[in-house]
Amino acid sequence: MQTFSKVSKRATCQWCGKGLPDSGRGRPRKYCSPACKQRAYEQRNNVKGTSIPQNAVIMTPERAEKIRDGLFELRCAAEDVSTAASEGASGEELQSLCDELVRMARELEELK
Ligand SMILES: [Zn+2]
Repeated sequence: MQTFSKVSKRATCQWCGKGLPDSGRGRPRKYCSPACKQRAYEQRNNVKGTSIPQNAVIMTPERAEKIRDGLFELRCAAEDVSTAASEGASGEELQSLCDELVRMARELEELK
């Protein structure tokens, strides 16, 4: 008997993170395309023989820099909230600073 109501976490491509179409029967797919499979394979092999762990996140220097800058801005914004709170800022003021903080954190999270 087959059960169709089973809710399973949707599989995502192990290289690019895109959602994978349900493969139905058989082994679940790991990659959304042969290109992703190939790149993942190449990365694994380039990584071989170095001290870089297999599960390391590889990113471009540009991206790393963007994330560093973003984190710096985020910290400054967080300090602003803290300063405002310690100086007795109004709830409204704190709310708008927090909104800004959340916006920045979201942007950082989506940074690709
Ligand atoms: Zn992919």
